[in-house]
Amino acid sequence: MRTVTLATGETVPALGFGTWRMGERGGDRAAELAALRLGLDLGLTLVDTAEMYGDGRSEELVGEAIRGRRDEVFVVTKFYPHNASRAGVPAACARSLKRLGTDRIDLYLLHWPGSTPLEETVAALERLQDAGHIRHWGVSNFDTDDMEELEAVAGGERCRTDQVLYNLGRRGIEFDLLPWMRARAMPAMAYTPLEPDRLAGKPALARIATARGVTPLQVALAWVLAQPQVIAIPKASRAEHVRQNRAAHDIELTADELAALDAAFPPPTRKRSLEML
Ligand code: NAP
Repeated sequence: MRTVTLATGETVPALGFGTWRMGERGGDRAAELAALRLGLDLGLTLVDTAEMYGDGRSEELVGEAIRGRRDEVFVVTKFYPHNASRAGVPAACARSLKRLGTDRIDLYLLHWPGSTPLEETVAALERLQDAGHIRHWGVSNFDTDDMEELEAVAGGERCRTDQVLYNLGRRGIEFDLLPWMRARAMPAMAYTPLEPDRLAGKPALARIATARGVTPLQVALAWVLAQPQVIAIPKASRAEHVRQNRAAHDIELTADELAALDAAFPPPTRKRSLEML
């Protein structure tokens, strides 16, 4: 499994597993649990969740999936901006730890920018880190100006990632945010790397997919994984999709294929505000 390197030197898998909308409906639970466990078996051991997802039910599902194999997994979860205060962060963390059935979160993210001063949030995160409840912290949905504001705060340089919307159809971050992060050895975490509704029917993806005998979305995922220092976290509740995503990791797009994708999905030529889902 390809890896990316955090600024601390620790490596994490470049292909992980997202869990938004998982754990929400009881009837789907067995299949979702099986999909998550299959992902772990296939090496998709970085698992992303959030206190928001299904009001904690996604975290509970992840907790069940990793039971007995916690040490294999890099657990990422997120707290709401309305829990980003001095008292709110440790309280949210304690609830997440309980739902996840673990004593530590590997990477704990502020889900999107809020109104609590970043100094306060960072100080709370650093206390959690000192106490061993979280191993690393980061943010999500921060644009470049938000990252600059964060970097100016005491301890802000210890932010380990920004989890942002990034796929072939949403390349805005390549203009300034990705270069800003790369200059600081900070990997980006690409959420919604497949976005089937927008990408599945694109002819440029279909052409490459047909020639290779894979699916268009596998090509889309391979493209995200071809970007340096980017972690992709596709969500899949069906076993077939989990297998396809794992196989997409092994697709090495050629220079010609990458050029064809650039022509169909041009990189940005000017600053665009960060898109969010
Ligand atoms: P996504 O991963 O791009 O797409 C998920 C959809 O693609 C699901 O409908 C899934 O179907 C389908 N799928 C998965 N693998 C496939 C394959 N190989 N072929 C065809 N379809 C496939 O979108 P996402 O769930 O929005 O994003 C991924 C993760 O990023 C989330 O789950 C969440 O963890 C995170 N996220 C974070 C934020 C944030 O604000 N930080 C926002 C959005 C998402 P099945 O489930 O039926 O298999």
